[in-house]
This record gives sequence, C-alpha cells and structure tokens, in this order.
Amino acid sequence: RAKQLGKAQFQFYTEALSERLLRQFQLELGLSSALKQNELHLVYQPQFNLTHNKIEGYETLLRWVKDGNVISPADFIPVAEQTGLIIEIGRWILVKSMIEMRPLLQAQQKLGVNISLRQFQQPDFVAQIEDVLRQTGFPAAQLELEITETAVALDFEETCIKLQKLRQLGVFIAIDDFGTGYSSLSRLRSLAVSRLKIDKAFIDRLADNEVDRNLVATIIALGKNLNLSVIAEGVESEEQVMWLRSLACDAIQGFYFSRPLRLEALEDVKQTISF
Ligand code: C2E
Ligand code: MG
Ligand code: MG
Ligand code: MG
Repeated sequence: RAKQLGKAQFQFYTEALSERLLRQFQLELGLSSALKQNELHLVYQPQFNLTHNKIEGYETLLRWVKDGNVISPADFIPVAEQTGLIIEIGRWILVKSMIEMRPLLQAQQKLGVNISLRQFQQPDFVAQIEDVLRQTGFPAAQLELEITETAVALDFEETCIKLQKLRQLGVFIAIDDFGTGYSSLSRLRSLAVSRLKIDKAFIDRLADNEVDRNLVATIIALGKNLNLSVIAEGVESEEQVMWLRSLACDAIQGFYFSRPLRLEALEDVKQTISF
C-alpha cells in the first residue's frame, strides 16, 4: 500500500514538474521574441502624497500581451531573470519609460522603475543608468530605482558602492516590498536609500488586524528615524487610507487612488484630490 501510494505521489510529482517545465519553456520561447514583436508595453501607476494631496510620482510596470492574453509580470519576470533576457528587456524599460514620461512629469514628480536582481548585479549597472540618462536627457533627480531587500542582502559591500554612485548621479533609490525580506537595521542605515515601500501584504489587513497595523506603524517610525520617506503599496480602501493618514505615512499607491494606466490615460488623472 505504501509502495503504491509512493508511486502515485511520484507520478503526481513528475507530472506537476513537467507541466511546470513546459510552461516555463513556452514562456521562455515567447518572451525571447516579445520585444521584437511589440508585445511589451508599459503602464504607470500614480503615487499619491498624503501630506500635499498631490501625485508625487508614477511607478512603471511592465505588461506583456500575447495573443490577446495579458501575462502577469509575476509569472514572466522570473523567467526573464533566469534566461538573462531581463538585461535587454530591463534596458528597454528604462529607455522607453523615460522617453514616454518626460513630457508628462511635473518638475517635482518622480518616475519609479523596478530593477530586477540580475539587472542590478551587472558590474556595469551604474554606467548603464548613466548612459540611459544621457541618451534620453531625462533628469537624474526625477528617477527612482526600486530594488528589493534581496539585492542588499546578497552582496552588501557591492550594493553599498553601487547605490552611492547612483546617488552621486542624482538618482533616488527605494526599497521595494519592504518588510518581506531580511534587512538589517544597521545595513539599512548605511545605504544611500531614500524611501521604503511597505509591501501590500501588510496593507491588506491594516483595517482589521492589530498586529499588521503595529507592523506598519513600526515601519513608518523606522522611516522617520532613518530620514526615509515611506509609501504604502496596494492600498485599496478608504479605511486603509484613513489608517495610513493617522499613522503619518507619507504616500500611498494602489487601486483606491488609481490602477496602473496606459500613457494615453494618464493625462486624465486628477493631479490633486482631497480624501
Ligand atoms: P511591485 O514592484 O511590488 O509592483 C506592485 C504590484 O502591485 C504591481 O503588480 C501593481 O499592479 C500591483 N498593485 C498596485 N496597486 C494594487 C492594489 O491596490 N491592489 C492589488 N491587488 N495590486 C496592486 P504587477 O504590475 O503585476 O507587477 C508585479 C511585480 O512584477 C512587481 O511588483 C515587480 O516585482 C515585477 N515587475 C513589474 N514590472 C516590472 C518591470 O518593469 N521590471 C521589473 N524588473 N519587474 C517588474
Ligand atoms: Mg515596485
Ligand atoms: Mg512592491
Ligand atoms: Mg514585487
């Protein structure tokens, strides 16, 4: 009986595995031509400042539409990372977003761009950023790169130097998905970072879970102490906004204020709203 069960489990396991491999292979294949086939485009999600009640920036998010279906970046970014395609795609995202958003951005607003681990780890990453800024004429002080805690944890010394160089260029750095990784406080203090993005996971139950609320309050306090601004990700309800305001969070980003939008739709977004 045990043997039978074992066999069934093994079968189940190999089927699940090969299905996953097949799917991964299909993604790889599709992704390698997605750029050339014009299947990739960018959307931008407004970030709303709670002190000034104004849009303070936009986060760039990648979209892949293949045969009419939208494939989630959560599914294909890891594949792009594994295959190394992220290097080419990442560079395209930087150039494209800067060109598209430059005419639209107001002087005090920033453009956020997600940088994946492998992209950040390239030895010449800083030179690439410098290059793109020169090529597009985009003001360095309006660019905010989003990196995750993992990048910091993996190679602290190297990260420290890179972030310092980027800061010297005038570029800003945010730690994305903050709270889900393992940032040590002493390390965080010595990095040239200017903002923390609280992961959506902590915001989801902000209104009805005291533990999560305390965690969010702690992250906001940490930001204040380290002189970093704090933005909450994935804000979906008025109640959450109310809590974030009362906790003195600097800014919010989420469906409650606006979904990520295509460039054409951005002009219709109200710049100032009081809620
Ligand atoms: P992220 O950088 O943390 O981006 C935030 C994600 O939350 C986005 O998902 C956004 O659409 C979603 N979001 C924003 N507000 C809400 C909300 O109120 N409710 C809900 N349910 N979701 C909300 P998206 O666009 O699917 O991207 C997922 C992840 O994929 C990103 O997480 C980022 O890690 C990665 N990604 C997306 N675009 C890029 C890119 O251009 N380059 C790189 N390297 N990674 C990207
Ligand atoms: Mg992000
Ligand atoms: Mg995030
Ligand atoms: Mg993320």
